[in-house]
Amino acid sequence: MNIETKAVHSGERKERQQHRSVVTPIEQTAAYYFEDTQQIIDFYEGRLSGIKYGRYGCPTQHAVERKIADLETTDRSLLFSSGMAAVTTAILALVKKGQHILFTNDCYRNTKKFFTDFLPNLGIESTEVNIDNLRNLENYVKNNTVLFFSELPTNPFLRVIDLEKIAEVTQKRGLTFIVDSTFATPINIRPVDYGADIILHSATKYLGGHHDLFAGVVAGKQEYLEIIQQSRDVLGGIIDPHTSFLLLRSIQTLPIRMKVHNENAQMIAEWLERHQEVESVWYPGLNSHPDYELAKKYMAGFGGVITFRLRANEKETSSFVDSLRLPYIATNFGGPQSLIEQHAVLTFYKDRENAEKRGITENLIRYAVGFESVEDVFEDFNNAFKVLRR
Ligand code: PLP
Repeated sequence: MNIETKAVHSGERKERQQHRSVVTPIEQTAAYYFEDTQQIIDFYEGRLSGIKYGRYGCPTQHAVERKIADLETTDRSLLFSSGMAAVTTAILALVKKGQHILFTNDCYRNTKKFFTDFLPNLGIESTEVNIDNLRNLENYVKNNTVLFFSELPTNPFLRVIDLEKIAEVTQKRGLTFIVDSTFATPINIRPVDYGADIILHSATKYLGGHHDLFAGVVAGKQEYLEIIQQSRDVLGGIIDPHTSFLLLRSIQTLPIRMKVHNENAQMIAEWLERHQEVESVWYPGLNSHPDYELAKKYMAGFGGVITFRLRANEKETSSFVDSLRLPYIATNFGGPQSLIEQHAVLTFYKDRENAEKRGITENLIRYAVGFESVEDVFEDFNNAFKVLRR
């Protein structure tokens, strides 16, 4: 089946719905009952399938998990209460005291914080690898290195790693290769096709797709997911039935939504690049992007986030953002409403020094493209550019 068909039917169509409803229902319950003690014994002995308690999963959630696994072409997927719950639970499940992990430097702020501030307290070391040094990845691998983690594309510079080259190293050195594919979604890339072991998403972004829910997902081979599930059962970062329903409904339209994000973002990125008030633009679909060739090789579309620098100082950049009428000043992406942020201010206000080191300068803007008409966006931007010229 093609991915559009899977997005609509996987995890739902073949599963028997109790009242033959077309739509998978929300089973809003925390507790599940047994008819008698024999059923409990049959359940534990594997003769009776079912659920014992809602923290271990619920039917609506299982439908979403099957759908995402099908889209990612993995054995299984597991849902979490947020992207961060997915990241932290997966790493805590797979890495032990005394071990070491590698991660790429352009990375979501809290993921990096977890690696550098939290893991050392548990006796786990991490090393940040600059994306431009990835061709020397093997030099960073130590005897106790067990895992390599990267976003794809990365945040905020939308860098694209060479999956096949990295998989050669991770396979040779026995490392688990995790890709946070939040910015791409399974519509734009399926990293397991190129040797990644585990795929992770903040489903709060494109999979949820409407800026209205929190969720995370981990997909991969059964052998990994079994271990991660045991950690999820204990750590408790579970998704609730109603959020599962919203996510299920959203993923049915993911291919259509990604098509619009990809198309609108490509047009807007090309337009911004031509604009005299814009110093530089990062978008993997532009041939000026450092990873354009890799993006073309691995990705079917380049996503809905554009990062750009204005020819402006901090105050002027704030005025530009403040004078836009269409995008909300907010941090997220993947919904119908476009969002904009002066990244150093909205995301890094309390961590400016670190932002500067990462190239997140005062004039850097992260723009999450929505579904507004591109002509209206151009008009809105043109009006805001006038503020810079005053
Ligand atoms: N991974 C990436 C690439 C993200 O951008 C984010 C959040 O912005 C996360 C993970 C964390 O996800 P959540 O906000 O759903 O916890």
